[in-house]
Amino acid sequence: MEWFKKALISFALIILLGGLGQQSAAAKDLKVTIHPDPSNGQMKSIETSRQKPTKAKNQGLSEDYHGHKSNRPETNNPKKKKAPSANNRFIPIQLLGINDLHGQLNVTRNVNGKPAGRVDYLATYLKEREAENKNTLLVQDGDMVGASPPVSALLQDEPTIEILNKLGFDIGTVGNHEFDEGLTELLRLINGGTHPKTGKFAGSNFPWIVANVINEKTGKTILPPYQVIKVNGMPIGFIGVVTTETPTLVVPSGVEGLKFTDEVEAINQNVTELKKQGVKAIVVLAHNPGTSGPNGENPTGQLVDIANRVDDEVDIIFGGHNHAYMNAMIDNKLVVQSYSYGTAFSDVDIEIDPKTKDIVSKSAEIVTTFQEGIKPDPEIKRMIEGYEAKVEPIVNRVVGSTANSLTAKQNENGESVLGDFIADAQRKAMNTDFAFMNPGGIRADIDPGDITWGEVYTVQPFNNDLVKMTMTGQQIRALLNQQWGPTKTNMLQISGLSYNWDPNKSIGQRVVSIKLPDGTEIDPNKSYSVTANIFLSGGGDGFTVFTQAQNKEVGPVDLDALVNFISAQPKPFTYQIQNRIQSAQ
Ligand SMILES: [Zn+2]
Repeated sequence: MEWFKKALISFALIILLGGLGQQSAAAKDLKVTIHPDPSNGQMKSIETSRQKPTKAKNQGLSEDYHGHKSNRPETNNPKKKKAPSANNRFIPIQLLGINDLHGQLNVTRNVNGKPAGRVDYLATYLKEREAENKNTLLVQDGDMVGASPPVSALLQDEPTIEILNKLGFDIGTVGNHEFDEGLTELLRLINGGTHPKTGKFAGSNFPWIVANVINEKTGKTILPPYQVIKVNGMPIGFIGVVTTETPTLVVPSGVEGLKFTDEVEAINQNVTELKKQGVKAIVVLAHNPGTSGPNGENPTGQLVDIANRVDDEVDIIFGGHNHAYMNAMIDNKLVVQSYSYGTAFSDVDIEIDPKTKDIVSKSAEIVTTFQEGIKPDPEIKRMIEGYEAKVEPIVNRVVGSTANSLTAKQNENGESVLGDFIADAQRKAMNTDFAFMNPGGIRADIDPGDITWGEVYTVQPFNNDLVKMTMTGQQIRALLNQQWGPTKTNMLQISGLSYNWDPNKSIGQRVVSIKLPDGTEIDPNKSYSVTANIFLSGGGDGFTVFTQAQNKEVGPVDLDALVNFISAQPKPFTYQIQNRIQSAQ
């Protein structure tokens, strides 16, 4: 893909040119205004201020964002209650699991008003738990990489793999995001190999498994479907699966030549195989969504269906993908998920009867990695600092310069300069008639002067893919009318069209006239090409009309589109509000 090549070339250049850091640490105070507007429910923000580029100490965001659950039912970490074994010939085994880390190595988040996360803190938690039981396995449930912050993303997510190696992970599966850069890159991260950006990489030192992704050329799974690990002489069979929705979540090139087959069929097929080998303790690592109440009540999501339909020899299912809490017993299978971003982990305690080799008891605790009173693991902390130093030149790279400030503050009609600019960038990147951007996804203003890559990152930190789609004029009108609800207004930022709205009309009918750039009215029956990010494309913020759009195609992430758009402007450039939205008030 064009954008990817461009990004690759620009990063290769930076690495070739080496110490670009100095020139980019220009004397601009990068105080940015972070918008407190969480009106779309996509995220909630807390105060944060940017470090000056010369320091670049806090490359991680300290605010909540997309997919992070900041309010959680559990308020503290009750010390794990050790259930006394009913029978002391049973062998106690502990499984510690994480899902959806997304390379958030250095990112602190707010959980119930307190800091949580960062992998050096997670490391301390995991080591403490490991010390409680010598029979401990560490498992990961996918989306370890992809949609990650600069500290990991700029180094091809190798830092994340190296840290998982160092923590001693024993087994893992792939999530949809492991396919973001295609199978070759996924296999390179696992098996090792060379990348033009980072050079030689040793790879992952623990096995990755997936039973439902078939290479169409060979007819075989891309990774081993299962792995048996012996703990204290007890064989435990692990089977990996990833959501079959993966092809709709990844750029087409990322899943080219791959077939994603039914999770339940794949699991059952491998359970049969494991049973033949006499393996009775079976754990499924499923990158599939699900959630439950704090005590396992009201379980919902794909995991419920999977648990109900898989062979009863399956004992435990680790889930992921929707960054939620789950700790439920479904059809006598224990199903768990521990939020995301290293802000929590699952601690599953099992007992195996050495006679039958089967699991006879199982229970789980989902533990939030609050930082309070915890010392970050010094070795992992040093590793993080090393990666941060490496990416500093890129984070501080000047990508453009603006003569005026680009603010996301909306005028009385609902339009902002930065909103216009970002919508233009996205429309350009996807070459479509229109683009729509949710205002809650614009996280900071751009101040006048030099613009660094890191500054653009704070504006668009979500690494949301852009999606190209087809919509009719009638659907566009319905979409715009969804901006006004009974309790809140959420004004999309737009490019490629303009419209009038009437505040005196009732909700659902406020949009009056929609015009194309040539001044003609939009044709309700005609099809137009549209760009929106993957969050909106899925109906996010209540913009459900997007889910009716056709011919969806995934493109570059929003951040790359914006960086490229800025780089293509004159230096410095000026950009004013475009007055695309007018109201009759
Ligand atoms: Zn996922």
